[in-house]
Amino acid sequence: MSNYFQKDIETMPREQLKALQNEKFMKQIQHVWNDCPDYRRKMEAAGVSVDDIKSIDDISKLPFLSKDDLRENYPTAMLAKPLSECVRIQSTSGTTGKRVIAYYTQHDVDLWDECCARAIVAAGGTKDDVVHVSYGYGLFTGGPGLNGGSHMLGSLTLPMSSGNTDRQLQFMTDLGSTILCCTPSYAAYLGEAVTERGIKDQIKLKAGIFGAEAWSEEMRRDIEKTLGIKAYDIYGLTEISGPGVSFECEAQTGMHINEDHFYAEIIDPDTLEVLPHGEQGELVFTCLDKEAFPVMRYRTRDICVLTDEPCSCGRTHVKMVKPRGRSDDMLIIKGVNVFPSQIEAVMIQQGYQANYQIIVDRVNNSDTIEVNIEMTPENYTADAEKVAKMEKELVAALKSMLGILVRVKLVAPQTIVRSEGKAVRVIDNRKI
Ligand SMILES: [Zn+2]
Repeated sequence: MSNYFQKDIETMPREQLKALQNEKFMKQIQHVWNDCPDYRRKMEAAGVSVDDIKSIDDISKLPFLSKDDLRENYPTAMLAKPLSECVRIQSTSGTTGKRVIAYYTQHDVDLWDECCARAIVAAGGTKDDVVHVSYGYGLFTGGPGLNGGSHMLGSLTLPMSSGNTDRQLQFMTDLGSTILCCTPSYAAYLGEAVTERGIKDQIKLKAGIFGAEAWSEEMRRDIEKTLGIKAYDIYGLTEISGPGVSFECEAQTGMHINEDHFYAEIIDPDTLEVLPHGEQGELVFTCLDKEAFPVMRYRTRDICVLTDEPCSCGRTHVKMVKPRGRSDDMLIIKGVNVFPSQIEAVMIQQGYQANYQIIVDRVNNSDTIEVNIEMTPENYTADAEKVAKMEKELVAALKSMLGILVRVKLVAPQTIVRSEGKAVRVIDNRKI
């Protein structure tokens, strides 16, 4: 039996939902045209006026936005409300260039909290739960998003932030945390720490909501086993609001997009043509009712598939399959597309945990890829012959998954640096 945070909206018949989207979109395009000079300029450059937009079916006439567009007019790109009406900013990490600053009015914060509350309820949460938020707080949207959702639901919220594993475990046992929210790599690390300390019987966790990085099904099973929980995926990006743009239900077969707030399209990233549901392409979002930072047709660079097949949970909003990774995460090795999540899946199938680092280089104009993988305490051996045999098995399994030669170096347990936020999985020396 499913629970919903907002049943009427989450299970709204699709036709009615489409009408709601259309109504919000028509209001939003007026707001953007009148109040958002950055996007109006883009529309004018594309030869589109607000008068050309008669319904949401005309959305394909509108220009796309890219991360570069949002960086260009830093720090106020796409701002559509006076700062005096904004109450908060969040920001992207800016590791690959200028940061994107996202602005929120109180209405925008409420809308975002609502999306996260839906995700917590879909993971089995109620006001009686103790929600342990170990995403980073601050400019990163992970902590504030789930914190807000948990507040709105009325659950006791532990604003742990990331790091300080001893304190995490102490609060988890002393306060009886029942729902853990963090990155999947940190959840795996906490699981490892729980096993190491032998305190699994002292924790009361029942579910986890993990996102902000790509993770495999195998990693999910691993985390579920070590922490004794059901692990749910959550998706989002600062440019659209933060976590909670879409979330997983108990069916665990894709994440329901909060379509009353965010309109999703899949496009062919080369031709920019809109593709029908069921086809793989780049995910594009339009904010239907955000006030301060109303991003239109934003290209996420996430490659995925949408499905509107009915879901056993009763929610009617479309589901997106877990993106294989952001196209930014994709490595091209000797012309072959490789996602770190594929390598991770192979490792876990072979009985390893997701502690690894990928090193890519170019030697004599040819790409090389090597993975350092930690042995687990169970399969650890110092016998060089045995290690060589284990490495050979991994090389063969990776070859059959990826079709290319990946060199494997097994290392002793606990020798790869653990991350408390997003894991640094790839060192690409080709770019240096
Ligand atoms: Zn569902």
